[in-house]
Amino acid sequence: MIRLGIDIGSTTAKGALLDTDNTIIGSIIIPTGGNPATSAEQILTELSAIKQPEKIIATGYGRALASFADKKITEITCHAAGVKFLHPDAKTIIDIGGQDSKAILLGEDKHVLDFAMNDKCAAGTGSFLDAIAAKFSLTQDDLSALHSTNPTPLAITSTCVVFAESELIGLLAKGEKLEDVLYGVHTAIAARVGRLFAQVSGEREIYFSGGVAKNETMRLALEAELEVPVHRAENPQLIGALGAALLA
Ligand code: ADP
Repeated sequence: MIRLGIDIGSTTAKGALLDTDNTIIGSIIIPTGGNPATSAEQILTELSAIKQPEKIIATGYGRALASFADKKITEITCHAAGVKFLHPDAKTIIDIGGQDSKAILLGEDKHVLDFAMNDKCAAGTGSFLDAIAAKFSLTQDDLSALHSTNPTPLAITSTCVVFAESELIGLLAKGEKLEDVLYGVHTAIAARVGRLFAQVSGEREIYFSGGVAKNETMRLALEAELEVPVHRAENPQLIGALGAALLA
């Protein structure tokens, strides 16, 4: 059966189209924008042009707006299904998206044993990194490549993005290096996500999903915080959509 998974996130909307043998035959990542229902429709139209899906499952914070979906499932369940399919040895998922971060503890199969989530504060999410990158006219690739400068993390104490920007500017005015300041932002996020990991008593093997998993500096900051390997999940931003398609 041809199945479509649609993940309407706060920042991006994703779609994954699966063939009968679970091969991904089409995928798409677009900005969610101001009208999540329109983004969902766009994904349906573009991926249906490849092959008509027989079953559709929607996930993500905007899933209720995908009125054409046969079923809606939480992103926690979908991330678990997607990661376990690609990485059967996974025990814990760290998912950092645009506006939330989660730690998900998995059972032997794709069952979720426990999860902890931060969706109340931008600190610890992709939007915090996006705001800091924009402030310094940097791209996401620049942040991802930052680790290669061997930065020394500086302590960043502000949890509010507006105050954090002032704090960074203050550090730069004192002569601190931009690389060290920015690495400090990554380690501050890693510390917050580390608390979610501790809440679920996270265990190895750990897989990192969500759009922020494309940021290699963030992955390394998480490894430094948790003092264990953190693997980047395959296709990390598509995991929720893939999981939804698999559950269909
Ligand atoms: P959501 O599902 O909450 O909409 P995503 O999982 O799509 O969020 O993640 C969006 C975040 O991923 C962005 O805010 C951005 O910080 C990060 N991101 C996206 N692409 C990249 C990239 N190529 N490199 C680094 N970070 C990225």
